[in-house]
Amino acid sequence: MDGTALAARLRGELKGDVAELGRVGLATVLVGDDPASEIYIRLKHKAAEEVGIQALDKRLPQDTSEAEVLQLVEELNDDDSVDGILVQTPLPPQIDEDRVMRSLDPMKDVDGLHPYNAGQLFFGHQTLVAATPVGVMRLLAEYRIPVAGARAVVVGRSLIVGRPLSMLLLHANATVTICHSRTDDLQRHTADADILVAAVGEPGLITLEMVKRGAAVIDVGITRTEAGLVGDVDPSVAEIVGYLTPVPGGVGPMTRAMVLENTVRAARYRRGLLPFG
Ligand code: NAP
Repeated sequence: MDGTALAARLRGELKGDVAELGRVGLATVLVGDDPASEIYIRLKHKAAEEVGIQALDKRLPQDTSEAEVLQLVEELNDDDSVDGILVQTPLPPQIDEDRVMRSLDPMKDVDGLHPYNAGQLFFGHQTLVAATPVGVMRLLAEYRIPVAGARAVVVGRSLIVGRPLSMLLLHANATVTICHSRTDDLQRHTADADILVAAVGEPGLITLEMVKRGAAVIDVGITRTEAGLVGDVDPSVAEIVGYLTPVPGGVGPMTRAMVLENTVRAARYRRGLLPFG
């Protein structure tokens, strides 16, 4: 499954949407100097520029206090030129991530981490939902992979990937199993999956004998190794599955495109062009 090609097409469409809306702004907040987060922010800015979204790069040092982060979020909430706000996680340990997410204006919360947006998703209404899960659903739709009635197994239950994706799959009428680090006998679940999503961050976790012949396998995991970026799925599964997302070039570019789509959606909410909620 080619995420790079689909993301490029979607960015092309978003360019038109941004031109129609006029100025659209995305602010990113990076606290500290985590090298992986730096790369994600840089790639998001590059993608934003490509579609004409004005990206504002806010950086704070590693020892920033929670109060200072909350102050910056408040300023961005009040800044009319900012349509979307993305606070890059993980935040340093002295900062309570949940409190920061709760302080975001829900209408600008392009990662879908404010309890209002997460609650909306739980109730089956999609307002702003994290970019990676939305990107995965787009890939499934693009390749016409049947979701309704399918057995979907999501490995990973984070607030940014596993949990919201499980909800989207459930709302699309899949029968969803959520696995995590305490799951006993992971293979028993994965081997039965028509759609298998690995969102863990452990290279080679999903091996050939853990997948069903013909399944659609989505590899969300990204781990930096000396050989480059690798996913959670052992490449040998390609021999028997129906679909597989590559790493890199699968979910990553889709995530970045969906951050932009969420920013355009937020801009529409803020201009009253879409009802919020
Ligand atoms: P996270 O917050 O660390 O969550 C990892 C999840 O995996 C947790 O739910 C954990 O279970 C579970 N887990 C850990 N070891 C496991 C095992 N041996 N078997 C089964 N489950 C296990 O990570 P995240 O933010 O969701 O990210 C997951 C991966 O996706 C990372 O590699 C990250 O870099 C990547 N990612 C990629 C994109 C993209 O655009 N492609 C976007 C976001 C993240 P517990 O809950 O029990 O601890």
